[in-house]
Amino acid sequence: MDGDVIRMLYIKRNFNNKLNIILAMRIRGIFDYFKPYGFEIPDWKIAEEYDLRPNQIVRMDLNTSPYLPQKWLKNFESKILTLKINHYPDATYRDLVEEISNYAKVKAEKIIPTNGGDEAIDIIVKAFIDCGYEAILSSPTYEYFRVSVELQGGRVVSVQRRENFADNLEGILSAINDKTRAIFLCSPNNPTGNTIPYNDVLYILDKASDIAVVIDEAYYEYCGKTFIELTETYDNLIIVRTLSKAFGLAGARIGYIVASKETAKLLNKARPPNSLNLMAIELAKTALGDSETVHKNVRKIIKERERVRELLSTLPKIKAHPSEANFILFQLLEGDTKLLHRKLMRKGIVIRCLDSAWPQPYLRVTISHPEHNSRFLKTLEKILKEEM
Ligand code: PMP
Repeated sequence: MDGDVIRMLYIKRNFNNKLNIILAMRIRGIFDYFKPYGFEIPDWKIAEEYDLRPNQIVRMDLNTSPYLPQKWLKNFESKILTLKINHYPDATYRDLVEEISNYAKVKAEKIIPTNGGDEAIDIIVKAFIDCGYEAILSSPTYEYFRVSVELQGGRVVSVQRRENFADNLEGILSAINDKTRAIFLCSPNNPTGNTIPYNDVLYILDKASDIAVVIDEAYYEYCGKTFIELTETYDNLIIVRTLSKAFGLAGARIGYIVASKETAKLLNKARPPNSLNLMAIELAKTALGDSETVHKNVRKIIKERERVRELLSTLPKIKAHPSEANFILFQLLEGDTKLLHRKLMRKGIVIRCLDSAWPQPYLRVTISHPEHNSRFLKTLEKILKEEM
């Protein structure tokens, strides 16, 4: 039995207000209230909705890298015919673990490769959250923390960030009770772009020493600040990383967890078998061995990020926040943010509108190629001048 409630019928009202039975199955009670992940809208749908050709669309909403790793794909091309795809991958992912170990400078026994950062979050949640137990989130933050915890039957306790987006440490600590099993932090945080000061992390780790403190470092490469070394001292610290951002491998679905040897052993019990595929593993091994390319691309993005922020700050009614990631959070101080967002969409510029995180909607733009960034800035300037 799952939770307290079992729903036999999933019922929806149709257009003339009649009840329509659309699913006659025993389903989890959670679906009465659960808000699923806001899946990313695909290009073809944007094209249909805004009457655009797919090549007119510039995606600046996904926090992915604009650089296609051609060199790694070429290398992969030569390897693909040798892959023993009729077999499962090595269940310990030994070769991949070795590459991650070299790249992240941690011992192999502390690493768990995952199918992207999201699976890393799921594994952690499965290991710590029982039905009715709680996870503390420093909000606004990455939405999938909430989704994963709630789907596991856990309850999310959100502690609002301070006005400057810093984590509210005292708020987090005072939210801890007997049911607390995990604290989710993110550095740099998506969507605010700020990192957590080292001493703040130490403070939380010490004060919440029997609670799992998860730090999502999905955007680590853009800030260069990591808490990985603290896993040597703190069993309660768990780091999540991904190759979906700075490595430009979002489509390959590779991430990893780093924790102390004992904590990694525990998490290993909660991971599914064979969730990484041989092709992605091969690509990831090549990528991890070529960190120079990653850092070259990261430098280009950082340079562009600073240029975009400076120019954004010169625009009327716009407040752009500093960022240590590959995206910038900004606000329209006067006027209708959602309308501005739609107007950009109509011109093929797709950015993210965050309309439930704060009382006022915020906008988040992912840094892309210089020409795309310039197109975004010009289009925004034009809309602000002419129409808003
Ligand atoms: N963590 C954070 C903070 C993210 O922003 C994302 C991607 N949006 C992820 C994890 C998940 O990344 P992936 O599953 O692609 O590795």
